[in-house]
Amino acid sequence: MDHTNAKPETIAAQGLGWIDDKTRAITPPIHVSSTYLRDEDNQYRSGRVYARADNPSFDQAEAVITQLEQGAASLLFASGMAAATAVFQALAPGDHVLAPKVMYWSLRNWLLNFATHWGLQVELVDMTDPAAVQAAIRPGKTRLVWIETPANPLWTVTDIEATAAIAHAAGAVLAVDSTVASPVLTRPLELGADIVMHAATKYLNGHSDLIAGVLVTREDNALWQRIRGVRAQLGGTLGSFEAWMLLRGMRTLYLRVRAASASALQIAQHFDGHGRVAEVLYPGLPSARGHAVAARQMSGGFGGMLSIRVAGGEAAAVATAARVALWKRATSLGGTESLIEHRASVEGAGSPVPTDLLRLSVGIEHVQDLIDDLEQALRQAHGAAGA
Ligand SMILES: *Cc1c(COP(=O)(O)O)cnc(C)c1O
Repeated sequence: MDHTNAKPETIAAQGLGWIDDKTRAITPPIHVSSTYLRDEDNQYRSGRVYARADNPSFDQAEAVITQLEQGAASLLFASGMAAATAVFQALAPGDHVLAPKVMYWSLRNWLLNFATHWGLQVELVDMTDPAAVQAAIRPGKTRLVWIETPANPLWTVTDIEATAAIAHAAGAVLAVDSTVASPVLTRPLELGADIVMHAATKYLNGHSDLIAGVLVTREDNALWQRIRGVRAQLGGTLGSFEAWMLLRGMRTLYLRVRAASASALQIAQHFDGHGRVAEVLYPGLPSARGHAVAARQMSGGFGGMLSIRVAGGEAAAVATAARVALWKRATSLGGTESLIEHRASVEGAGSPVPTDLLRLSVGIEHVQDLIDDLEQALRQAHGAAGA
């Protein structure tokens, strides 16, 4: 049986089953060379010249991700931000792009404060409303629609299929930041997206010990070749060891994401309607605004990310985060350990995030430990706040 026809769990667990030709090693070697030998007749038949452009240590991880997303090709980058910004930098000054009002904060900042100076016309839209997306399209000018689903940190859901149809009708490309869903739960290319982006720092690697990003394309076309050029020329290239680490992390991707998703749903259900919690934001709750779309385009779970709005406001939220023992107060997501974060403090001035919101990244610990720890933190925080 060919690995390319195997189930995704098998592809991830075995890294597509690649065996090193020279040594028969099951686990791949790490190629660290920065440069490659030119042939006597002045050619580069190996296809390798210099490691800013690419690196044999990327091949297997890129091939695995391409298979998991059912795409045509992938490119690893030095971070999720390097991957995301490469897509925008492959456009031309004057091009109009749509991005979500609710999205990953650093990329939103880059779009508003850097991409605009560089000449892109950036418009933020409510991506949960296809009519708003349609209305924002400028025929002949809009080149790219960028979405994130579920989106940081309110976990709003965007209909990938509907948005792809709107983008394509206008001759624009749809790119999806699918970091939170991971290929385990959503495959945007199958729903009509043109490019998928992951902060591989998060679920793909899964162990909070690596910064990496990746793009996957449905078609190897002119835009994709420009993006490849951005990586090679701007140099947002991943290191060899990091590519190897990522491949190792992905071996357990399916186990980790499914465990985290199942626990996140239990935690969401436990705190939904809880006296010390004003609101639980999680697309897996039937009461969530995006639940119907999420149920259609996600399979096997709704992800490991949720947010709670603490009754009693900002002081109670900060006090709750201060009193957890097992949850770690840290930014980022998608690791084996659960993280808690007062998101408004991270985003600072201009953030649209409610100040009573705690963002939770659920790991793979026993779910009862996580619930008990949050319970005691909420109880103590409300005692301290006199509530
Ligand atoms: C972390 C993250 C990014 C950026 O990735 P880095 O590896 O930190 O550069 C982009 N989008 C989402 C949704 C993220 O969570």
